[in-house]
Amino acid sequence: MKYVSTRGQAPAVDFVEACLTGLAPDGGLYVPAEWPQITPAAANETYVEIASRVLGAFAGDALSRDDIAGLCERAYASFSHASVAPLNQSGPNQFVLELHHGPTLAFKDVAMQFIGQLYDLVLKRRGERMSVVCATSGDTGGAAAAAFAGAEQVDLYILHPHERVSPVQRLFMTTTGAENVHNLAVDGDFDDCQAIVKALFADKAFAADVRLSGVNSINWARIAAQAVYYAAAQAALGPDRPIRFVVPSGNMGDAFAGYVAARCGLLAGFEMICAVNENKTLDTLLENGVMRREQAVATPSPAMDISVPSNFERLFFEVASRDGDLVRRTYEQYKQAGTADLPEQVRGPLGCTGFSSAMVSNADTLEEMRCFKQETGALICPHTAVGTAVARRLPTSNATTVVLSTAHAAKFPETVLDATGDDAGLPARCQSLRERGEVFERITNDLGAVKDLIRAKLVADA
Ligand SMILES: *Cc1c(COP(=O)(O)O)cnc(C)c1O
Repeated sequence: MKYVSTRGQAPAVDFVEACLTGLAPDGGLYVPAEWPQITPAAANETYVEIASRVLGAFAGDALSRDDIAGLCERAYASFSHASVAPLNQSGPNQFVLELHHGPTLAFKDVAMQFIGQLYDLVLKRRGERMSVVCATSGDTGGAAAAAFAGAEQVDLYILHPHERVSPVQRLFMTTTGAENVHNLAVDGDFDDCQAIVKALFADKAFAADVRLSGVNSINWARIAAQAVYYAAAQAALGPDRPIRFVVPSGNMGDAFAGYVAARCGLLAGFEMICAVNENKTLDTLLENGVMRREQAVATPSPAMDISVPSNFERLFFEVASRDGDLVRRTYEQYKQAGTADLPEQVRGPLGCTGFSSAMVSNADTLEEMRCFKQETGALICPHTAVGTAVARRLPTSNATTVVLSTAHAAKFPETVLDATGDDAGLPARCQSLRERGEVFERITNDLGAVKDLIRAKLVADA
């Protein structure tokens, strides 16, 4: 199984290379050269078995079946629920797919736990070390810290905006106690953190020197690992049952993983509604065919405060009949002008993919958290609420609605309290978070300072 770049100018690579590299050298994103056809999951398969088959198909011959099975076994042992991603009925013909049973209570754990195991196995075999960087608005950093803490082959650098992540999100990043996890609190916002990470990769000499790698949402391993729970949900509801998925979306990695599952034959059909907050670039894209960079605004669902939904590029590549030149030209124009119209020839196909979108205001998000609590007795996080609010508005249909619950309510206790008056306590297994000491380093919003720090660490290790 080979992986090609959406911008058509990078050599094809295997699964391991695509996952260790992150972004392709031509600036594009990796996708499989062709979509493997995978037998749908069966109701009696365990999550680990489904994951092993699906990820085994994506890995091709880059890893043995035994390797993949071992990676999945170890990755999902850290989840607190036996079925990893359980479905919970929330209304007539409506379910919530709970993706928050991992170590940091957000769906990012599903992919990140697998990535941590993958890097460990491959780098040990190669006898190599890597410097993994990630910019985070809150959840990715914690998931990466949990996945890489103590890994012998990796130094992890997490850049988070100082005093702009929730206290619980920060605790998940800063209390691992692991010497290979380096938390940098940047004096700036999330976009500043992301700009530093991009600049680190853009300096090719530096990147090669420190063996730089990235695990943000454009990494193919994240998409591949997320396709698994769509297959598991289909199996749990019955192989022929039509499903419409509602996915709280930001970078669109999660929603695109559903499309991948469908393309590989793992779903009975495909209907995907991307639920967005007041940052509605993705909505404008899907509904009007216009890519427009807008300043992100703060909302109650910060993990979805995204101004550029980076995984859309993969969908664009598909609906453009895999014309990498067209993708490259459009993104170049977008980069220069801050806006670009989707070419005429891709708009028709985009409309036929099964994707649509809907926006939920800040006020409606809080109102939804309150209503959901009243109706079901359960607390949901503000991101999940954006999804259930959209589900509420959908026309009736034969299809079963499945809303993805992307984080645990306890990760956003301030918002939960505000909306419902309830205290979303941390699950027992996370209680010790508040007792462990925090370790992070404040740093100015300066590329040179981050480079010096990474270099100094490598010298100290050598
Ligand atoms: C990352 C995140 C999202 C958005 O997922 P994308 O794959 O970026 O669309 C939604 N909810 C939560 C809680 C998240 O952490």
